[in-house]
Amino acid sequence: MGEFWEFIINIFNTEAFPPRWHCGRWSEFHGWLYIASDVAIWAAYFTIPLMLISFIRRKKNVPFPRLFWLFGAFILACGTTHLIDAIIFWFPIYRVSAVVRLLTAVVSWGTVLALYRVVPKALQLRTPRELEEQVNLRTHELNQTITKMRFMADAMPQIVWTAKPNGMLDYYNQQMVEYSGKSIDYLLGTGWEELLHPDDQNTTLEIWGNAVRFGTAFEIENRLLAANGNYYWHLTRGVPQYAEDGTVECWVGTATNIELQKRAAETLEKTVYERTEELRQANDMLLKSNKDLESFAGFASHDLQAPLRSISNYLSILEDRNRTILDDSFKSYINKAVDLCKRMRSLIETLLEFSRTNSTRAEMNPIRLQRLVENVTHTIYDEYPQKATIFNETRHTILGDETMLTQVLHNLIVNGIKYNPNENAIITISSTESSSHTFISVRDNGSGIAQEYLEKIFDAFTRLDSSVSGSGLGLSITRRIVEKHGGSISVASEVGVGTTFTIAIPKQ
Ligand code: ADP
Repeated sequence: MGEFWEFIINIFNTEAFPPRWHCGRWSEFHGWLYIASDVAIWAAYFTIPLMLISFIRRKKNVPFPRLFWLFGAFILACGTTHLIDAIIFWFPIYRVSAVVRLLTAVVSWGTVLALYRVVPKALQLRTPRELEEQVNLRTHELNQTITKMRFMADAMPQIVWTAKPNGMLDYYNQQMVEYSGKSIDYLLGTGWEELLHPDDQNTTLEIWGNAVRFGTAFEIENRLLAANGNYYWHLTRGVPQYAEDGTVECWVGTATNIELQKRAAETLEKTVYERTEELRQANDMLLKSNKDLESFAGFASHDLQAPLRSISNYLSILEDRNRTILDDSFKSYINKAVDLCKRMRSLIETLLEFSRTNSTRAEMNPIRLQRLVENVTHTIYDEYPQKATIFNETRHTILGDETMLTQVLHNLIVNGIKYNPNENAIITISSTESSSHTFISVRDNGSGIAQEYLEKIFDAFTRLDSSVSGSGLGLSITRRIVEKHGGSISVASEVGVGTTFTIAIPKQ
């Protein structure tokens, strides 16, 4: 330990050694050759680290920069040993020399270790040539992709465009060139704006401007000027492509010609408008003719009934006054004439009723079916005493116009009696219900109706049996009333067995 401290303390002490000039027999030439070479080596070794440091500083991203520093230190240390070797010719600083050599050894081994670690990694680094080849390959692939994309875009029937994030158009496909007859140079940037129809310019630019500002997709219908000088409707769409940080990288868009659809839609709209107008006019005319018909029916019933009444009165007077002188056949003619007058009156009344069914409003009230059927049955028993047996099997309550539904049941029950060859007609009225409707059935054991007439009997003035008196309006009045209630009527029948009419009335 004492020797170590003595070494440190006397590190610059040169007393123990003679200068190198005095060791051995140096010739002038040999000595100065040695000294000059050592100094030259030192100068070079001093310059190399400086150049390395300046290189690292100026060249960014140099791989393994610490290794460069280590190399610098190693070369500097080596250079210093040479400088000391030269100095020792005059000043024998052998202790300093030993320390410098020790430092050089440490730095050298540090460099060796660092190199040992770095070499495998360095081997994986690509040479500039390899890098260049890779760049060329990538560029080639990129160009191929671009060519493919452009080919695809050109093959599309639509106009395709792309734009920079700031909205400047930087690509148009061939379709746009052909459609507009303008050059790509003209179209790019803001040239396309001049192709917009003057009426669509403001809206399009505003929507496009907002899309660019907020980075959102857009869609607009606008007219674009074609090479033939006409404007055609297009559906223009633009979608932004976002970078990872959410900013817009570029815009991709299309413009699809929708002229045909637009024209078809316009024609359709026009046709619908025209048809609606026609329908409205027809409806107005129908309403007017209905009104005319009603007023005519009113007038007819009133003005025809009065003379009819007078005719039958005069016939009765004629019969009374000449009772003694008239023979029986004459009296029977007068009676027939009176009967015909009555029948004509009832016909006129039915006709009036038929025309009124349309205009009269249904007064909706809850009606107990059992009571309703009972009332109708009483009236009918008065009209057809001992000719029918009527079963009332109804239980439900319905919502409807009592007067109108009385009429419906009256028509159906009377038909069941009228068109019935049996001595005693049996009529059954029953009711059932579903969640939405109440069903009322009127079943008879009458003559029945052949299948081919089942639909027709509801038409006005349809009569299948002229041997029985009637107007041919009863069932059409019935159907109108049922439909006024939002319901429907159906019939099932078998000739010789009987007929069942079923009415469905909505619960609400
Ligand atoms: P009408 O006033 O002649 O009875 P309707 O409209 O009530 O007129 O009936 C039309 C035709 O339907 C009748 O002429 C008759 O032939 C037939 N018809 C109606 N109801 C029945 C029934 N219950 N049974 C057999 N035929 C019927």
